[in-house]
Amino acid sequence: MYPNLLAKRAALTPNRVGLRFSGEDWTFDQMYQEATLFAQKLSSKGIQPGMRIAILASSNQELMFALHGCMQLGCELVMLNERLTEEELSYQLADSQADYLLVDSHEKRNLASANIISFKDVYAAIPTQLEIEKEWPRQRTITIMYTSGTTGRAKGVRQSLENHVMSATGSALNIGVQPNDCWLCNMPLFHISGFSILMRSVLYGMTVSLHSKFDAEKAVEEILTGTVTRMSIVAVSLERMITILEKKNLLFPNTFQSMIVGGGPVPLNYLERAIERNIPVLQSYGMTETSSQTTTLAAEDAIRKLGSAGKPLFFADVKIDGEEKIGEICIKGPHVTTGYVGNASSINPQVNGWLHTGDIGYLDEEGYLFVLDRRSDMIISGGENIYPAEIEQVLTKHSAVKEAGVTGRSDDTWGKVPVAFVVLKKDASIEELKEFVKDKLASYKQPVDYYIVEQLPRSASNKLLRRELLNTIKKSPN
Ligand code: AMP
Ligand code: MG
Ligand code: MG
Repeated sequence: MYPNLLAKRAALTPNRVGLRFSGEDWTFDQMYQEATLFAQKLSSKGIQPGMRIAILASSNQELMFALHGCMQLGCELVMLNERLTEEELSYQLADSQADYLLVDSHEKRNLASANIISFKDVYAAIPTQLEIEKEWPRQRTITIMYTSGTTGRAKGVRQSLENHVMSATGSALNIGVQPNDCWLCNMPLFHISGFSILMRSVLYGMTVSLHSKFDAEKAVEEILTGTVTRMSIVAVSLERMITILEKKNLLFPNTFQSMIVGGGPVPLNYLERAIERNIPVLQSYGMTETSSQTTTLAAEDAIRKLGSAGKPLFFADVKIDGEEKIGEICIKGPHVTTGYVGNASSINPQVNGWLHTGDIGYLDEEGYLFVLDRRSDMIISGGENIYPAEIEQVLTKHSAVKEAGVTGRSDDTWGKVPVAFVVLKKDASIEELKEFVKDKLASYKQPVDYYIVEQLPRSASNKLLRRELLNTIKKSPN
């Protein structure tokens, strides 16, 4: 068993600020009171410990208290991504068999879920008496997060209390914990990048300065005041912050300790420019299945090991599968998920205790990990994973589409953007295809360009060769 995290934190440092949002502060004691009240009200709405509660809401203090409130009641959280379409969300709701869907007042979509409750409904409820648990079982599911899979449909990853606690502890043993720590969180809370900050906050007794979304100007401004010590970011966003500092010819203050950059490779040019702006960049490699970071490069190695994602955190282990130096990256440790829910529940993510990531890389002679390639044909666009198979499946549902192939094209802003190649069986315009995918795919997954082609490049065994799709335009006369 582990202690009830927020209850323990509120007992240890009740007056320390746990949350800062939109100019307002809440101490850990106040957060605990808010979360308990929310749990008591949920309980009076018929929600019981152990139930699965899906949450679809924007990042603000209400969402924070709702997340903590559900945890206080002992519920499992299904973290839904606000950017998804009705169809994508409905799939995840059905697949996770969520008992309830909790939404904030902005949510206007028509979702197929039996029990929808708004935050307002909860606030209006009369709190019941509730015995708050003092301890939580380590294997309890805290969160379920959907991550795209090679088969096209997103898979629900189960993240246990043990996974989250060991992830946060491993991170602390790497970067250290100080009493004045404040982590700026403008990553989505439904992603492990954001949710892991919330877990670290209660474990470390650290303030989370929550922003509703990524706003480069706002983040730079706040860091310049000297109150923020840590931040997590993806490469594209880091570049925007660097550009602002360059334009104003400013440096980050020494109070700022670590900028954890992950979700995809970081171009060397960004790392060099970050150093000039006094931003201590810690390149990191992680994923939903490992409840955040597995390896992180120390700031002092940033130059010497430029391009590396660092060494495994204290409890984590990394090996390369196969005989060659370069191979599939495999991960072991208490932060690794024990499995998926719903349709993916038959997939065992671990083989003899090792998670096979599908990412390609190598370990150098000093044990530093270099991530070379993304798993299969995955496209990473501004930190979001896009699986071509998912887009192809949607496109081939169109009555005029015979075959579809999707790949990533380099883009200055997003790193990569998806482009589609289609073989038609009857006439259809590109406009029509664009319109067709609109309500079926989140905007970041919608192809930016379409090419109507005679045939798709295929291997001898007729497997689609996505890596060769772009070459087909180079060869064509127009
Ligand atoms: P997600 O599950 O959405 O967090 O995505 C995890 C995937 O992002 C990994 O499996 C990698 O393919 C990719 N990724 C994360 N960090 C890095 C990194 N430092 N370098 C290269 N790819 C990365
Ligand atoms: Mg993933
Ligand atoms: Mg990602």
